Amino acid sequence: MNPAKREAFYRGLAKAMPDPKSELEHTTPFELLVAVVLSAQATDKSVNLATAKLFPVANTPQKLAALGVEGLEQYIRTIGLYRGKAKNVVALSNLLLEKHGGEVPKTREALEELPGVGRKTANVVLNVAFGELTLAVDTHVFRVSNRTGLAPGKDPLEVETRLMKVTPPKYLRNAHHYLILHGRYTCVAQKPLCWKCPVFEPCEFKEKKKFAALDPNAPKPKAKSKLPKPR
Ligand code: SF4
Repeated sequence: MNPAKREAFYRGLAKAMPDPKSELEHTTPFELLVAVVLSAQATDKSVNLATAKLFPVANTPQKLAALGVEGLEQYIRTIGLYRGKAKNVVALSNLLLEKHGGEVPKTREALEELPGVGRKTANVVLNVAFGELTLAVDTHVFRVSNRTGLAPGKDPLEVETRLMKVTPPKYLRNAHHYLILHGRYTCVAQKPLCWKCPVFEPCEFKEKKKFAALDPNAPKPKAKSKLPKPR
C-alpha cells in the first residue's frame, strides 16, 4: 500500500471511530494490566464480567496478593486458562510490591519482566495507560494489516515493526484501537463486511468486491417468473 492510500486508510478509520477506546473496563493502570493479562485467548466481554465482581473487592497489588491464587480463581473461573492466569496475576502483584512500590512500571523492559506479560500486553499498557506511541499486534491487527496490504508481515513482530514505520505519526496514538476495533467488528475473519467498510477504497484485499456484494440491503435481483411465457 502506498503512502497516499495509507493516509486514506487511517483517515477513514479515524472518521468512523472519532473516540476509540479499549473495551476492557478499567479505571487505573493496574486494573488495565490485570484485565489485559486475563484477556489472553478470551473475549473482552468475559473479562469485563469477571472484573466487574473482582475489582470492587481487589484492584490493587496489595489486595490481589492478599486474595491469593485460590481466592482469585473464584472470580475468574469463567475465563479460559484461569488457573495459570490466577498464578500470574498474584505473582505479578507480589513483584510490583517488591520491586516497584506497588506501581505499574512505565518501561517495556520492566513490564515484560512481570509474569504473564509479553510484548503485546506491554504495548497495550504503555499505549492505553501511559499514552506511549506503541502498537499491540493481536489477531485482529495481524489480519487487517496483512489482508488490506497496510503492513504485511509473517509474524506479529514483523507487522508491528512495519506498522510503526508506515503509520502516519498523527494516527499512531490511536492506531492500535482503530485496527483492533476495525478487525473485531468490520474486517472480521470469516466474511468481512466490505459492503459497509469505511476504508473500502484504499483497501487492497483482492476479494473485497466479492464480499461487498454480500450487502444484505442491496436490492435483490428480480426472481424470474415461473409462469410459462405466452405463445
Ligand atoms: S474492504 Fe473488506 S477486506 Fe478491506 S478493510 Fe474493509 S472489510 Fe476489510
